[in-house]
Amino acid sequence: MTCVKRLFSKGPRSKVAWLIGEALTSCRCFHAELVRHESSALPVVHHSKYVCDLAPSHRFPMGKFPRVLQCLLRDQVITEKQVWVPEIASKDLLSCVHTEDYLDNFINGKISEQEQRRTGFPWSEGIVRRCRYETGGTVLAAEVALQRGLACSTAGGTHHAFPSYGSGFCLLNDLAVAAKYMMDNSPTKRKVLIVDLDVHQGDGTAFIFKEEPSVFTFSVHCGKNFPLRKQQSDLDISVEDGLEDKDYLSTVEAHLPWLLETFRPDLVLYDAGVDPHWEDELGRLRLTDQGLYQRDLFVLKTVVKRGVPIAAVIGGGYSRDIDRLALRHSIVHRAATQVWRECGM
Ligand SMILES: [Zn+2]
Repeated sequence: MTCVKRLFSKGPRSKVAWLIGEALTSCRCFHAELVRHESSALPVVHHSKYVCDLAPSHRFPMGKFPRVLQCLLRDQVITEKQVWVPEIASKDLLSCVHTEDYLDNFINGKISEQEQRRTGFPWSEGIVRRCRYETGGTVLAAEVALQRGLACSTAGGTHHAFPSYGSGFCLLNDLAVAAKYMMDNSPTKRKVLIVDLDVHQGDGTAFIFKEEPSVFTFSVHCGKNFPLRKQQSDLDISVEDGLEDKDYLSTVEAHLPWLLETFRPDLVLYDAGVDPHWEDELGRLRLTDQGLYQRDLFVLKTVVKRGVPIAAVIGGGYSRDIDRLALRHSIVHRAATQVWRECGM
């Protein structure tokens, strides 16, 4: 196994080593404490405010966010020292993707009943706060990934949010904000590849970057699933209902390597949604836990071994059984831990 640590921390001035040097010296860092974190293990970004109150009857499994971290700690996949705490995303940061009007209305609770129905959430101060911390978390994961090679958040992947409105449980597009921020805050415009393997198409993200050559959007999704009206990603792979592990994995394996070779990103953002799972309430595909693990391992390892930094977010996953769901979401952190160890990071 190649030791990729050299690529990410010291040794020859590879493209990635240059990027890391840049992150440490000249990048306008969103998080000043970035270089002082003590743990050398896999960085896991989490904030206790990723969660907010929702009516118990609400179908969105809000309780999963703290439970993912609890499950990783309980199973000794990670220790508390590995946890990086993000800042809340400022209005200024969010405005790199979202319109001033939308941010003003969203933050101050001026969202109409009809707009609230489209998002799936009743407006509350708590939900604004959780979305802003979640977005700060994805930005921090991207920053840390540039420095350490790999990082995972315990939330994120709100890919249905558009610049001027929210949709499908997504109010702020954290992936788009992180990609735009990382692209703009470098002397050379960084190229960002967004690998979106949530079962739903990343329509908001595709729309936001449709005219942006420095961001490549790649989405593998179930064609018959939400959203009904798809946007055009740079590469869309629409799959049929009922797809199982083997065919799903060969689809991802057929595209990711050549995308990395041809687009040559400086950073990958990975939406590791678990809603392609057979038990998922909104899915329609038939992946198993093992299939999701193999998928995440393949994506993370393929990217890391090329010396490209990658930040993963958990994406969608729907079940009334929060413990089962949190365990499923923790698959990506488990796969990342294996990659971290095997690749000598
Ligand atoms: Zn989804």
